[in-house]
Amino acid sequence: MNKFIERVEEIAQTRAPLEYACALFKSKALSVLGYVAQICKPPKALKVTELRAANKILRLATNSFTTNCVYQLDAFHGPKLERPVVFLHSCMIRAAAKTLAGFSQQHLALQEKVIDSLPLAHLFPGSAKPEGWDSEAFCSNLHYAYLGVHSSETFPNARTPICSLIRDFQLGRVKGGFQAKVSMLLKTLIPNEFPRLFRRRFETLEIDCGDSQLLVMPVRGSPLELKHLLPPLPHSTPMCLLRTWSNGWCTSNRMHEPKALPCIFGCEADDDLCHYLKCEVLWTCVYSCFKCNTSIFMQSIPERACVHNVNMSNIARLYCAYSSYHALRKLHTDLILDAISSEDFEHVVEELLSLIILFGADTNRGVAF
Ligand SMILES: [Zn+2]
Repeated sequence: MNKFIERVEEIAQTRAPLEYACALFKSKALSVLGYVAQICKPPKALKVTELRAANKILRLATNSFTTNCVYQLDAFHGPKLERPVVFLHSCMIRAAAKTLAGFSQQHLALQEKVIDSLPLAHLFPGSAKPEGWDSEAFCSNLHYAYLGVHSSETFPNARTPICSLIRDFQLGRVKGGFQAKVSMLLKTLIPNEFPRLFRRRFETLEIDCGDSQLLVMPVRGSPLELKHLLPPLPHSTPMCLLRTWSNGWCTSNRMHEPKALPCIFGCEADDDLCHYLKCEVLWTCVYSCFKCNTSIFMQSIPERACVHNVNMSNIARLYCAYSSYHALRKLHTDLILDAISSEDFEHVVEELLSLIILFGADTNRGVAF
């Protein structure tokens, strides 16, 4: 695992575009685990490592998403990151069904030896682990992988479909790559935690999501509005929505910076997303640059956050607000600190207007948007 973690760090340091970073993750980081995964079970604390790796690769604020969610962002047309636990299980199932043979006989022989030599009081049904061994023998791992037992410990109800897929493969009924089919099957068994996660985040952000359909079901396979809006856009736009819905703007409060800032546009409020969805300075600049008529100034927070009334105009405005805020924080730190100490935010607002116009031009051209 150490080599995997090192590779993840290296990829994160490249600051590569998200799609490319995900491809590097698959080819340079995940691949180092493949050989051992054929015969060894995934490590116990893998879920925590998976979450840290995803946050680094996708440059997300800590705890924006759960592990199950962060590897399913493609459901919202976000970047597609291969899930390590799926890869590791699929490697062993492929090895058991396709590459290696004789492990079940070895497992049964080992089990008999263990039973013969073990005091009855220590006997655990099905175990072939001699006393003093840290883990099961490789042959036992493969035997249980073949029976779908190992994967069912992580993926609920995996046993029957895995056994049936292996049977179909052996009867020559599986077309295409067997391991890819196993991966696809395991992914379908991962629960969808988005509705619960977004509801929790929305409480923090004071967004009333009501019965918003898009949060009940993600985009893929559902007849919802986002399904038609997001696919033509590059990943940066869905990521802007996902970072907003998950309270993932990199504000000084959210990132637990040593010195928490006030609103960087001069309001008497905290530097956090809950405020920026309401910030009159920010949204007045956004609406003005988009030449909106006055009625739009009455937009609700769920509409600004693209939770209700999701349409291209609302997505474009949120994209500009999000991108301008982050550009200011990243590129104009001194300007912001000077404004806070002098209580004069004129130059920050001037810069904000130029950035919104710049990002807005991208949305009009349909290039970066
Ligand atoms: Zn403000």
